[in-house]
Amino acid sequence: KCILSIKNLYCGYGNEEILRGINLLVNEGDFIGIFGPNGAGKSTLLKSIMGLLKYSGSIRIMDKEVKNLGVRDIALISGYVSQNPNDYISKDTVYDELKFTLDNYGIKDDGVIDITLKDLNIYELRHKNPRDISGGERQRVAIASILVLRPKLLLLDEPTRGLDFEAKRKLGRVLKSLNKNGTTIILITHDVDFASEFCDRFGIIFNGEIVSIGTREEVLSES
Ligand code: ADP
Ligand code: ADP
Repeated sequence: KCILSIKNLYCGYGNEEILRGINLLVNEGDFIGIFGPNGAGKSTLLKSIMGLLKYSGSIRIMDKEVKNLGVRDIALISGYVSQNPNDYISKDTVYDELKFTLDNYGIKDDGVIDITLKDLNIYELRHKNPRDISGGERQRVAIASILVLRPKLLLLDEPTRGLDFEAKRKLGRVLKSLNKNGTTIILITHDVDFASEFCDRFGIIFNGEIVSIGTREEVLSES
């Protein structure tokens, strides 16, 4: 079942066109790794899916055109974690970080916070200050604070940046398990080893276009 359908997407900043004719179909349950050089438009693609940019063409999430949805409605279907987890961290405990998101959306905690903390394997950190935990743990807190809204689609911008091997492995495992349990994931990365281990499909963006998409063999062997 298709969860995200992008057709002939053109998008940019002001007069500058960054994405030039993107076509992308994502099925429920996909775990896609997106590669590409700096400045290719990877982050711009994720921002456009979140309804943060003007575009022409079509972006449909769960059969709804993004430009007809409010940013708030989109956040309930699709979660976006940008490159810098510190952008998100503003509270004094990990628990409050997730509570803050729910409060912002006027949602009561029916136990979803504890479930999300456990899903991300950070439940035991719930009373800790997010400033006092490791970078890998903080990345998982940032993801948790988005996932607490239970989006079907999760967009991650270089989540392994700055993480050591062990922290990456822990992150990869929780993402894989979220994916197995029904969250569709699109992940931007420069980390071929990480993506090879955890992603099922691979795409390459070059100069605002998807130049290749498919299995690891189809995509990575040619580069
Ligand atoms: P990537 O994520 O592949 O590194 P980006 O999507 O971040 O690439 O950026 C693509 C291009 O868009 C770059 O040339 C970048 O400078 C430009 N860009 C990104 N964000 C903005 C912005 N807010 N305003 C203007 N230009 C931007
Ligand atoms: P990313 O690859 O995630 O976009 P960057 O380091 O390229 O990260 O950009 C950091 C921030 O600056 C982003 O919010 C991006 O939108 C913005 N930005 C990037 N390039 C430009 C630009 N040329 N003009 C204005 N803002 C930009």
